[in-house]
Amino acid sequence: MCASVAARRGRRVALLDHNGQPGRKILISGGGRCNFTNLYCGSGNFLSDNPHFAKSALALYQPRHFLELVERYGIPWHEKALGQLFCDDSARAIVGILLAECEQGNVEVVLNACGIKVKATSGEFRVECSQGEFSANALVVATGGVSIPKLGATRLGYELARQFGLNVVLPRPALVPLVLGGNEAGLTELAGIAAEVVAWTDGAEGHGPSGGRFREKMLVTHRGLSGPAVLQASLYWRPGEALVLDFRPELTGRLAGKAELLGALRQPGARRDAAALRQALHEALPQRLANYLADEGGPQGWSNAALEEYERRLHRWKFHPVGTEGFAKAEVTAGGVDTRGLQARTMEARAVPGLFFIGEVVDVTGQLGGFNFQWAWASGVAAGRAV
Ligand SMILES: Cc1cc2nc3c(=O)[nH]c(=O)nc-3n(C[C@H](O)[C@H](O)[C@H](O)COP(=O)(O)OP(=O)(O)OC[C@H]3O[C@@H](n4cnc5c(N)ncnc54)[C@H](O)[C@@H]3O)c2cc1C
Repeated sequence: MCASVAARRGRRVALLDHNGQPGRKILISGGGRCNFTNLYCGSGNFLSDNPHFAKSALALYQPRHFLELVERYGIPWHEKALGQLFCDDSARAIVGILLAECEQGNVEVVLNACGIKVKATSGEFRVECSQGEFSANALVVATGGVSIPKLGATRLGYELARQFGLNVVLPRPALVPLVLGGNEAGLTELAGIAAEVVAWTDGAEGHGPSGGRFREKMLVTHRGLSGPAVLQASLYWRPGEALVLDFRPELTGRLAGKAELLGALRQPGARRDAAALRQALHEALPQRLANYLADEGGPQGWSNAALEEYERRLHRWKFHPVGTEGFAKAEVTAGGVDTRGLQARTMEARAVPGLFFIGEVVDVTGQLGGFNFQWAWASGVAAGRAV
């Protein structure tokens, strides 16, 4: 994106990638259909040490701009969940658009460019790699995060940032399954079970349009918890924090207000015992999950107060993850090049004229749902207009 925008402004651009195929993450994204943007993208959908940084680039290049590009190329698309736009056919179409745009600007695409080393001398950047030497008065680093190393992710971007004196906010896996340990590891025997929940962590409280709470599916895995609700919450999760799940989110529409799990037990004259508890949970949750929750300790007695207390617990069930499944499974890397060292309108390093950082390598991380690509496009355009 950055290369094509710069080339259209008449810049001579070489685009170096050590992979033999461009855009590999795009190709596998969104289950092969690429969730290329989100119509409701705002700065609240992003996490950064510097929360206002992303606003300027996101305002300059909005979801509708990328959508115009997709439509100009006649790529069929659809809105899957609220605001999430996907290709109807294949993510290849998105890589195709970017390559076509680059070709129109005569961008020299250099693949298999391995062993990149950068030196700077009197306002000029010299890049050495297995494909030769390149020099220019501007260098844009777009090496992404470190998640999914088998697709070619490396730490080069962070190393270059440090080489030029920029700080790096500790990179950590995000949009990633969480691992359970100790007694809670017992839940993994239910691997494969899914349920709609609201998930959140202390760190997410009040964040973004959803207030840091994500009402989506959670999935029990062989190691802990995943599914969109938990992946979203993982963006904000820090070691030591609890992951909180509401197992019966407030219902909407016709059933509004009937979010109680134990309502049946609280009816006048209703049975109040372990069997009735199990029955009530079975009605609302997958059977094995209901059994797990019941086995983890029911109410402290059968009084109204005890049932109310237990009801509250079911709406704020706390797990204590012992870690994440790491960069090998993370959809993105949170943290990265510290935005305090970058100009928000151009992505240029404040202290190093001509050096730019864009995309996931920067400490701006989007929620699940097309936000990470929108950031990649928007920050790429911002730099492409400035180099
Ligand atoms: C499985 C998966 C699914 C995803 N689905 C979506 C989705 O549907 N929607 C969404 O918004 N986001 C999604 N994401 C996130 C999204 O793919 C990234 O945020 C986005 O690709 C970041 O773009 P980027 O250009 O900054 O980095 P990348 O796309 O990672 O590109 C970085 C490039 O730099 C190259 N590179 C790295 N190191 C070196 C080096 N040392 N030398 C030379 N070249 C190097 C790489 O080969 C790569 O081509 C997904 C991520 C994953 C892993």
